[in-house]
Formats: sequence, structure tokens, C-alpha cells
Amino acid sequence: MPRWGMVIDLDRCIGCGACVVACQAENNIPINTADAYFQRRVIEWIRVERYWEGEYPDIHAYHIPVPCQQCTNAPCEPVCPVYATVHNSEGINTQIYNRCIGTRYCSINCQWHVRFFNFWEPKWPDSLKQQLNPDVTVRSRGIMEKCSFCLHRIEKAEWKARVEGRPLKTDEVTTACAQACPTDAIVFGDLDDPNSKISQLLKSAGKDRGYQLLADLNTEPNVTYLKRIQAGEPGEADVAEPALAQVKG
Ligand code: SF4
Repeated sequence: MPRWGMVIDLDRCIGCGACVVACQAENNIPINTADAYFQRRVIEWIRVERYWEGEYPDIHAYHIPVPCQQCTNAPCEPVCPVYATVHNSEGINTQIYNRCIGTRYCSINCQWHVRFFNFWEPKWPDSLKQQLNPDVTVRSRGIMEKCSFCLHRIEKAEWKARVEGRPLKTDEVTTACAQACPTDAIVFGDLDDPNSKISQLLKSAGKDRGYQLLADLNTEPNVTYLKRIQAGEPGEADVAEPALAQVKG
């Protein structure tokens, strides 16, 4: 049985936002209006945080894409009074929409701020209604939603493999954000498959680059970040290049 995970290489992320747009389109996320931003009620299953370092004119921006961290010990789960957020057998923290009663306790208990409440009924202009993804439920007002690791894609691939009477192939499935990323900064896959891109990438990146956001909380996230490598920094040649070669295959 796979154990799904994600690696985000911060040395490759250019902050283009393609992952955010792909996620919005794939998962039927309502359009975030200016009003929603001003009220801090936007829905973004993955966001790209931008930080600046240095002094003018020698300033550099760097970016950190932040989806749900898919914690193994997810703090959002025990606080839900109706078990609307639970783990599945493949390690994904799922949200069961028709169980959710909208207490928002899970959101309060999530330190990464990656859970979103539907304050309004979702709306799309007529011109965009035909582009909704039929594989993903449209969430109604009053319930919580979050990154699902594109669970519908995983289920579709697993179902196809079952029909064809074979096991799921290595790297047969990926998330919309990983697929859209022009620099392959996001890699998704089975952490328990030693031949998967993600396992190979983690292996080639070595121990020193990988870390988890807020790891001190001991929730054991299944999203691992690879820290940036500055040009000329020790380790650039022997860490960055093998990682690059692995991802590009
Ligand atoms: S698509 Fe890739 S490069 Fe662009 S912001 Fe997302 S992770 Fe970074």
C-alpha cells in the first residue's frame, strides 16, 4: 500500500504561482475576489509565501509553497467532533465534506493555516461553469476544505490499475500542483517505493537539506522541504546537481 508524500525543493521554486492556479482549477476552488482578500477569507489549498533577504540594491526574494502538510499525527483530527477529518489507509488526511458541521475547530488547531472555511456559497461566472472538474465535489457554504493531495487522481489511477489487473505503477499519479510546476520544484509520490522520484530525490538530496515546517510540533508532516543552496555555498555541486538529475529523469 502506498504512503503518499510530497517534496518541495525551495532551490527550484521561482514563485510563479502556477501550482496555485493549477490547484484552483483542478479542485473547483471558488474564485477569490478582492472582498474575500480584505476579509481574510480566501480559499487557497496551496499558497506561495514570499520572503525577502538582503539590503537594497542587493535584494533577493525567495518563495515557500505551503499546502496541507498531511501530518501523520494531524492536530486537526482529534478536535473534530464528528470525525469529518480522518486519515485514510494511505496516509492522507482527508476531509469528509458531508460530515462537516462547520465548527472550524480543525482550522484553529492547524498551525500551518491550510484549512479553509466556506463563508459563502461558491460561485463561478457562466463562462467558467463548464470547466469545473467532475471528479471533485463542489463544497457548499458552511463547511471546511483543504488540500487532498489530489485524492481523486489517486483513486482514479488505482481504479484503472485494478480494472487492468495490475499494481499501481511507480509515479503513475501526481498532483495538479506538481504537474503544473515548470521547474519541478514539487515532487509527489509514494514514500515507500524506493524507485519513486520522491524517494530517489530524498535520497540524493541527503540528510542536510530536508526539513519539515514546524517540525518541533512533532506532527510528522508528509511534506518535506529541501532548503535552498546559495551559489558557491559548500555542497552546491554535490547536492543540487544530483537532485536535478533525478527529478528530470
Ligand atoms: S509552480 Fe513551482 S516554481 Fe511556481 S510557485 Fe509553484 S512550486 Fe514554485
